[in-house]
Amino acid sequence: MASDHALTVAPIPILADNYAWMLRETAGGAIAVVDPADAAPVIAALDRAGGRLDLVLLTHHHDDHIAGALEVARHFRARIAGAARDSRRLPPLDVALSEGDTVALGSQRGVVIDTDGHTRGHISYFFAGGPILFCGDTLFSLGCGRLLEGTAEEMFDSLRKLKALPDDTLVCCGHEYTQGNARFALSVDPDNAALRARADQVDAQRRAGTPTLPTRLGQERTANPFLTAADSQSLAVLRSRKDSFR
Ligand code: ZN
Ligand code: FE
Repeated sequence: MASDHALTVAPIPILADNYAWMLRETAGGAIAVVDPADAAPVIAALDRAGGRLDLVLLTHHHDDHIAGALEVARHFRARIAGAARDSRRLPPLDVALSEGDTVALGSQRGVVIDTDGHTRGHISYFFAGGPILFCGDTLFSLGCGRLLEGTAEEMFDSLRKLKALPDDTLVCCGHEYTQGNARFALSVDPDNAALRARADQVDAQRRAGTPTLPTRLGQERTANPFLTAADSQSLAVLRSRKDSFR
């Protein structure tokens, strides 16, 4: 587990290439899980970690993020938190959140950031005590989410908000897409030394069978072409080239 004084975080591999994330508050032992789309492996991981779950955090309505949420929450009598403005497409929420709201995990607080683009109603959670960011399918390592419902303007605005977080933020994304993202990123920015270094690291991590996540925001800021895009038009061009990249 990536660790510091207040919070620890670890990925739980689920489905084909998704991660649910386990977040533990060190002082009191409170546990949250983010996007538990497959109940069995998430319940097994929580049982191994001590059999406690306080809070389920949801980023957006897609099945590969929410499908197991109700079963996991009921199993541990945990509460479910998600975006108030997308509640009709989410499992029944015990905590309906809007931008700027905070959600408590023991002594720690996560703040809600609206991050539309991949979907409308997508939210991210930032825990300053990590610092740790759960950004669902908005920001990936060396990539960003597909624009399925939102516009390039909305995604650009969402990435601008995430980019303002501290360099040492652990970025916990919804998918293990990093190796494919690295190939595309190198095709558009071949001379970026930070990107090359990250791509080599990712190849080694995948060879070893280990997750490439979480990543550090400071590393993404220099290596991720979607974060260095100057404006929403450049982002739109990059995103459409990525959509057809093989
Ligand atoms: Zn999604
Ligand atoms: Fe997804």
